[in-house]
Amino acid sequence: MKDNVILKVYKYFLPSAWKRYKGYFIIRFLRLIVNTITPFVPILFMPRIVDELVGNRDVKLITTYVLVIIISEYILGMLNGLFGNILERYSLKFENYYTSLMSARIMEVDFQLTEDKKALDQIELAKNGMSWYSGGLNGIVEPLFNMATSLFTVVGVVVIIAGQAPFILLITLILLVLSARLNKRMNEIEQETYANLSNINRVFSYMGWELTDFRYGKDIRLYGAKEMMLNKWKDYSNMFVGMWGELSHKLISLRLLLMIVDVIRDFGIYFYVGVLSIFGKITIGVTTQMFTAAGTFYNSMRNLVMGYQDLYKRANYANEYVKFMDYPAAIQKGTKSVGDGPHTFEFKNMSFSYPGSDVEVLKNINLTLTPGEHLSIVGLNGAGKTTLVKLLCRLYDPTEGTIYMDGVDIREYDYEQYMNVFAPVFQDFKLFAFSMKENVLIQDEATSEHEREVEEVLDKVGLTEKLATLSKGVDTYVFKHFEEDGIEPSGGEQQKLAIARALHKNAPVVILDEPTAALDPMAEYEIYRQFNDLVDERTAIYISHRLSSCQFCDRIAVFSDKEIKEYGTHAELVNKKNGIYAEMFAAQAQYYQV
Ligand code: ADP
Repeated sequence: MKDNVILKVYKYFLPSAWKRYKGYFIIRFLRLIVNTITPFVPILFMPRIVDELVGNRDVKLITTYVLVIIISEYILGMLNGLFGNILERYSLKFENYYTSLMSARIMEVDFQLTEDKKALDQIELAKNGMSWYSGGLNGIVEPLFNMATSLFTVVGVVVIIAGQAPFILLITLILLVLSARLNKRMNEIEQETYANLSNINRVFSYMGWELTDFRYGKDIRLYGAKEMMLNKWKDYSNMFVGMWGELSHKLISLRLLLMIVDVIRDFGIYFYVGVLSIFGKITIGVTTQMFTAAGTFYNSMRNLVMGYQDLYKRANYANEYVKFMDYPAAIQKGTKSVGDGPHTFEFKNMSFSYPGSDVEVLKNINLTLTPGEHLSIVGLNGAGKTTLVKLLCRLYDPTEGTIYMDGVDIREYDYEQYMNVFAPVFQDFKLFAFSMKENVLIQDEATSEHEREVEEVLDKVGLTEKLATLSKGVDTYVFKHFEEDGIEPSGGEQQKLAIARALHKNAPVVILDEPTAALDPMAEYEIYRQFNDLVDERTAIYISHRLSSCQFCDRIAVFSDKEIKEYGTHAELVNKKNGIYAEMFAAQAQYYQV
């Protein structure tokens, strides 16, 4: 089981790391050689110096030995430091590389996972798992090389010890088993704490980063929310500190036991080697050699065992990254080609509940949308209008029933091709803190042809006047994250930019999901009217809890209580006795009778 995690993680990371960063592995290998040789220099030369000192006292020979030790230790130490520095730099490269892969994955996972607590937790575990918990790729490769170094050292030292004082090996091994057990328990405790921390970390980063984002500034100030934020922050911060405190409390007694084991080992070896020396079984030189070799043997064996435990621990953290990267798809994806259109859509006996909830949000929906049709979906807040669009765009799949495009279940189509059919402007659309041009084009390289397109589409949505006031034109940044002179567009301007982006996508179906909710009814009416002209022959869906969009739409679907309660043209519905639409229209008529 244990080996599986290590193997799995290595199988996942090593091929890509080797392909991109061969130099890293070469340096690791050179460092392995240096680290293996290093402990043998004093082990081999110290006894010679001691025996020479108590024997012939040949100054030249003694000087030579001393110089050999000093010079080789200096060179080996230098090389070790140099390689260490290079590896450090690789470590940063790895971090950037794997973080960028993860960001890419976060942006492409099935949308519904972004609203799923388990998936969000997994993202947090993955982020931490691949950074400081495991030390990243360098962190999972290092223990392997350290273990190899230790193994070679152990073999060499065993050969040296076995001929002179073999019981050293026995004493060391017994006490090593004890300290390995203690160490294992310490690792387990650490891991449990880290797992609990991931949840707190997510809340923490929301408090720390998102809320200090100036876009929350108005609400925080005007609602006096600072106190609440700081209190919440304090609570979590106390939990955070408490957990770390508990961790060190649990670890302290184990650390103490570990030290006692070390003392017993030292005592046993000094006693045994001392006896051998006093009874003349070994020379003074060999006595010192045995002391050093015993230390090296113990340390290398310990490094070997702990290196394995360390590797196992790190592999487990890194595995959280692998788990996220391989996170199972939330919705089924097909391979069918979408074709050019025009497209007909049909909802058939479709019902839907959000994942993890039994509450039906939509019930038995039957609806057809023909090519070029303009459909208005109206209903009170919470009636399920946005949900219907999310289902149509395949951000979620129906719980029951089917949605068809051109007679084929939409789940059978190639997902990306299918997404390209739609250009929605969602209620909670987001502009990026990039240039206006990039916001419309959604690409960062633009030709002059592109620039013209952007200007054209901005003109269509009525942003030309605004553009004229901006010295950098379409290159002006939206928001101030990147540039001092970025603009802070008004709600209406943001909507226009979002609509421009949707129009520029040139998709066969455009959807306007109440992006105008912040506007007054007349302004909303105006936007829908203009948009309707711009949309032209494309299929369009307008969603609103007001009726602004209805008069120029071909059909109106009135959603209420999870269902489509009324369906027809404006003329049909407006005169229906006791009809929901007729009532809504009567109540709001003042705005629309132009
Ligand atoms: P509308 O667009 O008509 O205002 P929605 O489609 O946004 O309504 O919401 C319909 C219902 O589904 C509401 O009760 C809402 O609380 C619920 N809902 C919306 N999004 C989610 C979600 N991600 N998870 C669970 N319930 C949701």
